[in-house]
Formats: sequence, C-alpha cells, structure tokens
Amino acid sequence: MGQIMSILATASEPDAADLPDDISFPLEIRLHGRGGQGGVTCAKLIAAIYAQLGLNVQTFGDYGAERSGAPVRAFTRVNRVPIKNRNKVYHPDHLLVLDAALLGPQLLDGVAAGAVILINSPEGTTQYATTFADYRFGIIDATGIAREQGIGTSTVVIINTTLVGAYARLLDLPFAVLEKVYTRMGLSDDLAAAEEAYQKVQIRQPVNGMTEVPVGGELAISLPTVKPQTEHAEDIPTQLKTGNWSTQLPGYEDYVAPCNSACPAGNDVVGFIQALKKSGNDAAAEILLRTQALPSVCGRVCPAPCMSECNRRQMDGAINIRSLERWISDHAAFHPQAQEADQPYALAVVGGGPAGLSAAYQLALRGHQVTIFEKEEKLGGVLRYGIPVYRLPEDALQRDLERILSLGIELQNNHPVDTLEMERLNEKFDAVIVSKGFSDAYTLAAAGESLSGIEQGLSFLARSREGEAKVKLSGDLVVIGGGNTAIDCARTALRSGASSVKLVYRRSRAEMPAIAEEIEDAIREGVQLLPLRQPVAFRGVGQVAGIVLAEVELGKADADGRRRPLVTERTTELACSRVLLALGQENELDLLPETWQVRDAQAWSGDEPLNIWFAGDCATADGTVTHAIGNGRRAAMAALASLNGTKPAAAQLQQAALVAPAQIRFSHFPILAPHQDRHKPLEEVRKSFEEVNLGLSGTAEAERCFSCGRCTQCDTCLVYCPDGVISRCDDGYRIDEEYCKGCGICVAECPRRAMDLNDKASGKE
Ligand SMILES: Cc1cc2nc3c(=O)[nH]c(=O)nc-3n(C[C@H](O)[C@H](O)[C@H](O)COP(=O)(O)OP(=O)(O)OC[C@H]3O[C@@H](n4cnc5c(N)ncnc54)[C@H](O)[C@@H]3O)c2cc1C
Ligand code: SF4
Ligand code: SF4
Ligand code: SF4
Repeated sequence: MGQIMSILATASEPDAADLPDDISFPLEIRLHGRGGQGGVTCAKLIAAIYAQLGLNVQTFGDYGAERSGAPVRAFTRVNRVPIKNRNKVYHPDHLLVLDAALLGPQLLDGVAAGAVILINSPEGTTQYATTFADYRFGIIDATGIAREQGIGTSTVVIINTTLVGAYARLLDLPFAVLEKVYTRMGLSDDLAAAEEAYQKVQIRQPVNGMTEVPVGGELAISLPTVKPQTEHAEDIPTQLKTGNWSTQLPGYEDYVAPCNSACPAGNDVVGFIQALKKSGNDAAAEILLRTQALPSVCGRVCPAPCMSECNRRQMDGAINIRSLERWISDHAAFHPQAQEADQPYALAVVGGGPAGLSAAYQLALRGHQVTIFEKEEKLGGVLRYGIPVYRLPEDALQRDLERILSLGIELQNNHPVDTLEMERLNEKFDAVIVSKGFSDAYTLAAAGESLSGIEQGLSFLARSREGEAKVKLSGDLVVIGGGNTAIDCARTALRSGASSVKLVYRRSRAEMPAIAEEIEDAIREGVQLLPLRQPVAFRGVGQVAGIVLAEVELGKADADGRRRPLVTERTTELACSRVLLALGQENELDLLPETWQVRDAQAWSGDEPLNIWFAGDCATADGTVTHAIGNGRRAAMAALASLNGTKPAAAQLQQAALVAPAQIRFSHFPILAPHQDRHKPLEEVRKSFEEVNLGLSGTAEAERCFSCGRCTQCDTCLVYCPDGVISRCDDGYRIDEEYCKGCGICVAECPRRAMDLNDKASGKE
C-alpha cells in the first residue's frame, strides 16, 4: 500500500508524458478471455486509459452469440494519429490472457519477441518462465483478488477491472490515470481490486535483458512455437467505406438541461456549474451574471425550482445549485462591464426591488442610460424591507446592489411616482419599466381587528430590518398566514423576545406556500404550527387578549390545485398578547391615468401602445425573487425591442429538447451524496439575527453535475465506437462519416445525452 500511496500523492494530472518511453505506435492489443469474464469491457477500459492520456483509440470485440464461458477475443488499437485500420489485431504488441486455461495453440499467433504479455493465473512467474522467456510478462491472480473483493457473483467473478490494474503496473503507468478513468466510468468501487493487482503483479523481463535467471519448472501446458500469420492477416485488405446502406449518422448536439429550463431568472445553470468545475469562480460568474442581477440574494433565498427538476434527483440527490450560485457570488472577483450601445436610449425604472433592479441592470449592461425612481430611501424592495437579515444579510444584498449601480445607473431615492409623474416619465424617457411590487396587505375583516397589538406582518418586518432595538417583544404571539411573510414574522418574533410563537394557517402544512425549508427551520427553532384553523374574531379590551379560531375541513381542489378550506362551526379560543397578519398583498396596477390600460404587461393609450412595461409582482403576482428577476429582464428586452422596431428574441428553450432522467446513463456516474450547506448551531441562532445558513465549504458539489445535454469531452463516445471513426479535433470530436456505420453505440453510451442519431437524408448531420 505504501508504494501506491506515494505514487498517488505525487501524481499530477495524467497525460501522454506518463507513457513509457519504449512504447511505439500504432499500439495493438489483443485480449483472450471467456464469455462472461468482461473481456470486451476490459479492452474498453484499456482504451479509456490511453484516451485519458490524449491518444486516439479504437476497441471492439470479436464474438457473436457465444455462450457464457466460450472463448472470446477483444481488440484495442491506440495511435497518436486518427486510426484508419479497422481490421482485427493480428500482430499484438500487448497480449492479455484472462483465463490461463486458454493458453494453448494459436494464442501466441502473431506475437513477436519483446511483446508484453499479461496472464491471469494463480501460479507464479516461474511456472511460465521458459515459455515466455522472450517476452516482458506479468502474472496476476486477478480472479482471486476480484473474488476476495466481491466483484461479480460467487459463480461468475468479473476480473476485468482487476486485471487492468496489473496491466497498468506492467507498463509503468501511474495509478492516478486508473483512478481518473474508473471514477469517470462509475467503477470507483473496483479501484481497490485494481490497486491490489497493481501492487501484486509479478513481472519478468525478457531473458536477454534480465538480471534474474528464471527458475525453471515444469510447464503445465505445452505451447506451440510462434506461427507465421495467415495470408489474410499478412495482407491487410483495403479499407472499405460504409457505402450507401447506412441511413443514420451520429452528431454532437446541445440539449436543454432541466435545471436551465426551470430557472425563472433564465440562468444557464449547467453553463455556470461546468465553468466553476473547469475554470473556477470568475469564469462561472461571467456566465451567471449574464442573466442574474442578484446572485448573492438568489443564492440564499431562492426556492430553487431548478433543484426540484435536476436529473440527479432521480439518482442520489439534486445538485445543490442554489448554494453553488451563492458560492460564486460570494467568491468571484469578476465584475461585468457595460458595453457601448450603438443607439443609447434613456429609460426610467419605477421601483427598485428585484424586478426593477434586474431590468435596470440588463439595460445598463447594454450601454443605455437608466434612472431608477424608488419611493423608499434605499434600494431592494422586499429584499431590504421584508426578508430578515438572518436569511439575507445586509452585506450580501449590498454586494449585488453595488455591482448593479457600478454600471452607471442613476438613483432617485425617496421618490414615489404617482399618476401625474407617470405621464411626465412617458414624455421624458424613451421607455419606462414599472416594477412597483405588490400593493396593500390584506386584512381579515374579523371582529376586533382594530385592537391594539394586532399589526400587519410586513410593517413589523420592516421595523425589524431598521434595527433590532426598534422591536422588543414579550408574551405570546400569533402569526396568521402560511406564506414566506408569515414564516419570517414567526422566526423574527422569536428572535425579538416573544415567549411563544404560534402560526395559524387555514389549510394543511403541505399546502403552505412558504418555502419548505423555511417551514422546517421555523419548527426547529420553536414555532408551533396550528394548521386547519381560521381566525373568526379577536377578543380583548383595547389590547388583544385572544383569537377565536374556527376548525377548517378541506374540500375539493381549487383552480390552483389546493383543496378549498371549509370553515366549520366548531371554535376554540387561543390566548395571546400580540398578533401579526400575513395574509398576502393586493396586486394592482394603480399608477396609470384612467384613460390608459394594461394589455399583456404593456400600457396602452386607446389603440396606441406606449413604451411602458410592467414587471415583477405587480405584473405577474408570481411572488418569488427569481421570477421577478426573469420578468424584469424580459420587460427590459421588450422595451428595447420596441425602440429598435424588432421583436424580442424568442424563448430559446424548447420543451421537446429537454434532457429527461431516462436519457442520462446513471451507471456511468459513481453514487455521491450531495454536499449540504453548513448551518450555525440551533442554540446560537434561535435568539440571534446572524445568518443561519453558512452555505457550502467549497466547490466539490459542482463535480456531481452530470452536465445534462452538453458534451464535457469525456471520451466515452470515442472509446465505445467499435470502428474507431471518432477522433478528437480542436473544437471537440470529429466523426469520419465515410466509415461510420451509424450503429449508434456512441449515442447510446453518451452518459449525458450530448449526441443524437440523425437520418442522413435529413441533412441534420
Ligand atoms: C416577507 C417576505 C419574504 C419573502 N421571502 C422570499 C423568499 O425567501 N424567496 C423568494 O424568492 N421570494 C420571497 N418573497 C417574495 C419576493 O420578495 C417578491 O416576490 C419580490 O421581491 C418581488 O419583486 P418586485 O421587484 O416585483 O417587488 P418589490 O420587491 O416589492 O419591490 C417594489 C419596489 O417598488 C417600490 N415602489 C412601490 N411603489 C412605488 C412608487 N409608486 N414609486 C416608486 N417606487 C415604488 C417599492 O418601494 C419597492 O422598492 C418574500 C416576500 C415577502 C414579503
Ligand atoms: S435563481 Fe433560483 S432557480 Fe435560478 S438557478 Fe438560482 S437557485 Fe436555481
Ligand atoms: S445534473 Fe447538472 S445539468 Fe443535470 S439537471 Fe442537475 S444541475 Fe442541471
Ligand atoms: S460521450 Fe462524452 S465526449 Fe462523447 S458526446 Fe457524450 S459527453 Fe461528449
């Protein structure tokens, strides 16, 4: 073990420099085994190792419908240049024998002196010393090791991965190259057996170069002398092109990863994760920041629909995309620069929440002059005056805001826009984006609602964000509602000193619209859920002292799929000294003069379309930051397209081209549990406003991403092509169409659906 560890510790990324000096090309390898031993996979594994070292490879089996146990052969060819020879291997430079019982007539046919031979046998080298005196040969008990390590079944032991360990040692290849290939091919579990074979293989040099004289011994078998090649083998036939019978050709294509299609902000998730993996934080930020104005925010508070759709969910857990986004935002130094616009326009944005900020960012990036009119003193909307700091700390929000404002955006703060001013903005600016968020919060209209101690949750949260000192609570508090505002109120109330916090919701927990993780955190911190209860009256004299709660039963599903709450006559009374209402907000477009209307998120005056566009919660009522960001960007693009007399670019995502879980070859990937976020201990966070979730400790999670629908240049197609018609080129791979049979093995084996077979007639090659 010690020897292997030192090899591993010093190994850098394997490349062609790791090849032995005496290896010459083309290199031809022949394997002899029995059906069921995994000989063909063994040949593919060897090909994958050479491919990993930067060489062209070809590998295929020579068998038909043999039964298990029948002799089979497999071949691997390796070269520095693309391989054109498609014949079987008649003059192997390396010979691997998976079953010593096959040693017999014909086995050494075409094997010249000096060749490398590896035999799977429990015997020592001395047993074969005389017979193989002219060869560099190795002996390994691969069957024994594989059986010991439990590879295969008790009756059929699979020895291929073990034997390749011995082969690597015989050639003095670093073990690190096996680690890379096995991991990539989902064979990490077999690495221990390969490592044991790497250590234990007994090697003999040809007699001429030997210092050690082989100890003789009786050979268990009698081998023939090397025979001349058959005429057919001597005279390699001319290469035959595929001809006209092949009807299909494989091709490399990008398909849409479900994470990309599910992100409402329009982020290129697979793009930023792969960039993070290959090139680090800045390269990833460059991609992320094309669509995402607020990555520090979304990396913390997004409900992450991308993760719900991630293909890896079906295997061992979704990629922790949200936290990778947070990592990039928190660690990258990259800052996007504003381009110069050919025709710069002046645009106004009303409302500096996520939708307005996203619109302003996209416009400023493209070189336009943007002015944000914000009624509050500071930018951020709900991000600043709603979401508590223990979920979204001030510095994280500030980081995103500074990046946006650094593009040269003008801010008019403390500047509420009214109907009259809307008319003025329409005159003065080339276009206006209105992103004013939701309007007033709903009330219950229940008896006693005006009692002291009953407050809108949003105003409580806004006061809390202004500084902990402003809100000091005591006594029993009840929050009414089931959305994010309700959960934030409940957790903030606990931190502000309430002795108990109960959350009353009229439906069941499963139907609460709040982010599921937030509900779990609230319960963990001590918030008590009271589902299926409807407040019908408040009790108290001057000050609230209790709530009358009616029991609720659930009826049939509403249009939104949630079951309708049916309030019963059965009531109970709950004592409390304070109530926070979190019942949602109105969604109205109230800034326009009476003669203007809104159609498809655009303002019209009579039949004349105005260049005024609505975005975010006020337009869609979607109610998440990521939706507001996507919507703000699309409104900005619509405004620009209207000014340029063009149409906004059509949505690039085609549902039909989505990569489904069934199209991912899970078997090519090792099982790896997701890397979870780190959290502050519960006892520390319950009473504190410090950030609870500390995110990831590194970027290893990016390694788990399958890269659905996008080629990673993993070489699998190149290794699996039985005819060696795939070779590397500057921008990926080239398929030699004149020789491709269109068998589709490469397409079927691509682990991530980055290839497809197309009809030749379609011309979509
Ligand atoms: C307490 C709470 C917690 C939430 N938690 C989450 C969460 O964890 N994850 C999530 O994805 N979503 C969450 N949401 C929802 C999310 O914050 C909103 O969907 C999002 O902020 C909507 O963005 P917006 O830009 O449309 O509106 P807003 O954020 O409301 O911004 C509107 C802006 O317009 C300004 N404005 C309004 N009227 C005028 C005017 N007349 N003139 C000038 N300026 C004006 C406002 O001051 C404000 O700055 C939460 C919402 C709340 C209330
Ligand atoms: S914004 Fe949200 S949905 Fe989009 S990639 Fe980030 S976490 Fe996923
Ligand atoms: S594995 Fe990667 S590319 Fe595939 S859906 Fe998940 S995050 Fe997206
Ligand atoms: S098999 Fe690998 S190299 Fe070939 S297309 Fe798929 S991802 Fe790309």
